[in-house]
Amino acid sequence: MKTLSCQSNVIYAFSKNNTPILTVDSGETIEIETYDCFENQVKSNETHLEKIDWDKINPATGPIFVNGAGKGDTLKVTINKIEIGNQGVIATGNGIGVLGDELKEMTMKVVPIENNHALFNDQLKIPLNPMIGVIGVAPENEDVSCGTPNSHGGNMDTKLIKEGATLYFPVFTEGALFALGDFHAAMGDGEVGGSGLEVPGKATVQLEVIKNNSIKHPVIENEDGLVFLMSDNTLDEAISKVTKKAVYFLVERTELTIEDATLLLSVAGQAEVSQVVNPLVTARFIIPQYVLDSYQIKFMS
Ligand code: CA
Ligand code: ZN
Repeated sequence: MKTLSCQSNVIYAFSKNNTPILTVDSGETIEIETYDCFENQVKSNETHLEKIDWDKINPATGPIFVNGAGKGDTLKVTINKIEIGNQGVIATGNGIGVLGDELKEMTMKVVPIENNHALFNDQLKIPLNPMIGVIGVAPENEDVSCGTPNSHGGNMDTKLIKEGATLYFPVFTEGALFALGDFHAAMGDGEVGGSGLEVPGKATVQLEVIKNNSIKHPVIENEDGLVFLMSDNTLDEAISKVTKKAVYFLVERTELTIEDATLLLSVAGQAEVSQVVNPLVTARFIIPQYVLDSYQIKFMS
């Protein structure tokens, strides 16, 4: 198995002009090491915030060129394993997150991680849900900062992007140029303060090219069903577009009319919020597995 170190192998923007640092064949499994979103600059509660280089935020390890991937294909990414470091950092402050207009100063908290819990303080242990914040491919048009999500993936900060999940990305450029970073040991839906429990880590992923099967936005497949992801300027727009996407997905693959599919998802579907704090916000819509099974729908076939 190939291993990719983060040392001198990071990008700060997804771009079709990035130079690949590794080439793999479709079907290969790779171990990828990542910095935390501060590029491991916050070592302890004594780290001086003035000393942090704010240009080194949200590094993603990559990009990886996947042989055979071309425009109009889909990149399937199976997350076999996520390993995380033994401490994390949470940050918020003036201008950051939902409370950004009420917070006075930048606040960071370094938190030890032990026995599958984050030790928030003496009384409180938070259960972990390790996940990947930034993951995606080169976008179709101009470069996109690793802090922003969009149809190429990027900073989607979605807690369902975790061990055991399979992701699908549209491929916009030759080789797809896949990269990932920004792991969270734990994060709540919304990521309301602007950060998760930020940790360095290592992910084992399998990359596969699905030829001539194009999607427009990232999709997650997990034990609960199919999760459509959409990033947009406002939560209203993101929820509306991702809901319509799920309804039309059923209309195209079943005998259901748009009215019937709407009735069905109004009762059985889940519209959920991934994050509301990045330059574009991210919403998701879940079609449960039993609905897919009833209509014998396989996402990629
Ligand atoms: Ca993030
Ligand atoms: Zn993060």
